[in-house]
Amino acid sequence: MRRELYSASYSTWIPCRLLLLLVLFPLLSIQASSPPPLNQHTNQEYKEAAAAARNLAQEIPESPEVHCSRERSRAAWKIIEEYLKPFVEQEQYQISKSCRLHPDNDMFREQEQHKIHHDINEWRCGFCRKSFRAEKFLDQHFHNRHNNLLNDTQGRCLADLCGALHCDVTMESKLPKRKCNPAAAARNHHLCESLADNCFPINEGHSASRLHEFFLRQFCDAHTCTGKQKPFPRGAKKETSVFFLAISILILMLLPIFYVLVYLYRREMKKGVQDLKRISQTGRKLKPS
Ligand SMILES: [Zn+2]
Repeated sequence: MRRELYSASYSTWIPCRLLLLLVLFPLLSIQASSPPPLNQHTNQEYKEAAAAARNLAQEIPESPEVHCSRERSRAAWKIIEEYLKPFVEQEQYQISKSCRLHPDNDMFREQEQHKIHHDINEWRCGFCRKSFRAEKFLDQHFHNRHNNLLNDTQGRCLADLCGALHCDVTMESKLPKRKCNPAAAARNHHLCESLADNCFPINEGHSASRLHEFFLRQFCDAHTCTGKQKPFPRGAKKETSVFFLAISILILMLLPIFYVLVYLYRREMKKGVQDLKRISQTGRKLKPS
């Protein structure tokens, strides 16, 4: 009885297995012949991600740490260019290399000069011609690839002078105004005065002493907590006044032409009115007859 049962179950088991094999084999063969495209896609993506990570890893080890803010150095440079340089040029004065405001004392100057701005969204590296969508990516590239050009020696960080030069006033990030700290204001005032003394020594002639005085008024006087003095009271580049001068000359040249045109127009109008009068008078004279 037991043996019969066994043989019966065995006899049904074999066809079942065959059927299962017949159903599964085509499925298995399809899977073996064509791997799913999704898998292939993710594989490629993985390869690309790995390559990008490798590139990044190649870039990072070359960048030693620089303890100087590029952004703040740029702000300081902009202030020097706008609120100091035009006046120094006007005096035809040469700033010495020992002065920290001299272009050679800005460690980022060489890199900044190698920025090529083609379009709003196109920035190019002047060293290797690689292009970027935004300035911040080019900054990052300089940091990763061309940091060997930075001469990070003492006294070449322009950002350190930001306190004296009022970088916060011009920087785009609108930070909430902090309460004036008298100690910080005094420190900045001291730094500002030492810049005036080093860059424009009074004993080096009239130009230097005039610029010394100008520097104190333009940058140093505002380092108080009274709030009475504003930074850069002497203004920015003189280019605006040149622009206004050009506009006024143009207006002066065009004014006589305008008056001549008005005069001619009015004369023509008078003539027209006189002609009309004459015609109407002759018309009236003709009517009674
Ligand atoms: Zn480059």
